[in-house]
Amino acid sequence: MDVIFLGPPGAGKGTQAQILEERDGIRQLSTGDMLRRNRAAGTELGRKAQAYMDRGDLVPDDVIIAMVEDELNKPGDVLFDGFPRTVTQAEALDAMLRRHDRQAAVVLFAIPLEAVEERLTGRWTNPKTGRVYHEKFHPPARPGIDDDGTPLVQREDDKVETVRKRLDVYERQTSPLIDYYGDRLIPIDATKALQTVTAELAAKLKGAVA
Ligand code: ADP
Ligand code: AMP
Repeated sequence: MDVIFLGPPGAGKGTQAQILEERDGIRQLSTGDMLRRNRAAGTELGRKAQAYMDRGDLVPDDVIIAMVEDELNKPGDVLFDGFPRTVTQAEALDAMLRRHDRQAAVVLFAIPLEAVEERLTGRWTNPKTGRVYHEKFHPPARPGIDDDGTPLVQREDDKVETVRKRLDVYERQTSPLIDYYGDRLIPIDATKALQTVTAELAAKLKGAVA
């Protein structure tokens, strides 16, 4: 079964997705990571996305939907992290899942927007793998360096002004998905410590598949 992670930026979706990928082998499909990889490689897609990402706006739906469609032709269950982010994307995903005869559980990372600002401004990322740390809540073993030796960086769009813009965009364009999915949503308390969230997620996903 596929899984969709819904929730504001900074809720901990990527962190938990990486844990599930390592533990269960489900493939994390982070649209944000895919876009950043395209930017780093200088592809046309990356160039198209750049200005939107730097402003904290969403990249246009048609660009994102085409990018995800390609990935669904590959085998194995997928964990959608950061997609869908608009009702148009959610409708397109539902149609794609139906076409591929797939089903998805939808998890809502419930957390007030006030609580995510500090998570985002203290986030450090491995630009090669997308692995994330937090200077206070989840520090790397060696300050500023990942276990693979890669220097960690702070994302350009994690500075405070862009974070506020992204939270506003979430509220206006993405939070309507809470109504869209309605009864299908599996809420988890994303305000808790990282390991507590991992445990709640495992228990609830087990229930969803059973
Ligand atoms: P998202 O993918 O939803 O944008 P991330 O997984 O990148 O969020 O997490 C945002 C920041 O918060 C990162 O710095 C991460 O280390 C930290 N973080 C993740 N989960 C928790 C948690 N449960 N408690 C505190 N900090 C967390
Ligand atoms: P993220 O890594 O999920 O925080 O995404 C970083 C940025 O990439 C967002 O602020 C958007 O500009 C863009 N992005 C990622 N996923 C999507 C999506 N599903 N729809 C539109 N834009 C996206």
